[in-house]
Amino acid sequence: MVLAAPGEALRESELPAPEPGPGQVSVAVSACGVCRTDLHVVDGELPDPKLPLVPGHQVVGRVVAGGERFAAGDRVGIPWLGWTCGECRYCVSGRENLCDRARFTGYQLDGGYAEAVVADERFCFPLPEGYDDLQAAPLLCAGLIGYRALRLAGHAERVGLYGFGASAHIVAQVARHEGRRIFAFTRADDEAAQGFARELGAEWAGDALGPAPEELDAAIIFAPAGELVPAALAAVAKGGTVVCAGIHMSDIPSFPYELLWGERVVRSVANLTRRDGEELLEVAPQVPVRTEIQIFPLEAANDALARLRVGEIRGAAVLQVMPIDD
Ligand SMILES: [Zn+2]
Ligand SMILES: [Zn+2]
Repeated sequence: MVLAAPGEALRESELPAPEPGPGQVSVAVSACGVCRTDLHVVDGELPDPKLPLVPGHQVVGRVVAGGERFAAGDRVGIPWLGWTCGECRYCVSGRENLCDRARFTGYQLDGGYAEAVVADERFCFPLPEGYDDLQAAPLLCAGLIGYRALRLAGHAERVGLYGFGASAHIVAQVARHEGRRIFAFTRADDEAAQGFARELGAEWAGDALGPAPEELDAAIIFAPAGELVPAALAAVAKGGTVVCAGIHMSDIPSFPYELLWGERVVRSVANLTRRDGEELLEVAPQVPVRTEIQIFPLEAANDALARLRVGEIRGAAVLQVMPIDD
């Protein structure tokens, strides 16, 4: 499924099979998660995508050929971080997520809305058993970015999750496992999301723009709505952190300094390091995280994106790629 130009629907296309270069594996894709970032790419909200582009950066498949790290037939996951330079000031200080020359899967590199993909084997993850391919896919971004956001929220006991979609539904399970208390903030009338959050251990779920039931120690904002930043700042206690976990957000309205006073912190989370991935994939089976997925055939990628746009997905949308018939 190919994006020819931002703002257009993806088109079902026949492309030549990608050939692995040095250090790359070619992978037969079986599942690919659909991420909010894919929507930002398709909608033209992120600058300079590769075009034409195959989106998708939560890819599960089996190695067909190439590379040295994996054998043919090994199951791998391919995440958003597709390549880093290894030599810039960020890469050499354990912050490859900020690499100046990083390349991202499904953005600058063709991704997993396809039957076949190539990937730098150093950035692929072996996947834990106990998850089938479809269930494993959302761990690869919704899970990883959510996990990094939770880590950057510090040792917060009372955690507010703003937007209860693919990421929040995974983070809530990890946070509960760590003994934290979860509060879910959604659109006022989104009773489905609020009920879903309570099922996953949130002790309260309600209106993101209304008052919080009690002070929070941290908030993680997954929804791309800038007005949630002052709302979350108003909800956190002194010393609390507000983490913006999305790659794109509408403008943040101005707010009184009083909301930031008391050593409150606002920060973003950008991308992932391979270490974040290794940690989450180790933690997930211990929780155990159960991913709630809504399955679409690959050809229905536009439908999956449209439903994600209007908030109709419970948990995570995943594209199922049927084996190539030859
Ligand atoms: Zn670098
Ligand atoms: Zn993503």
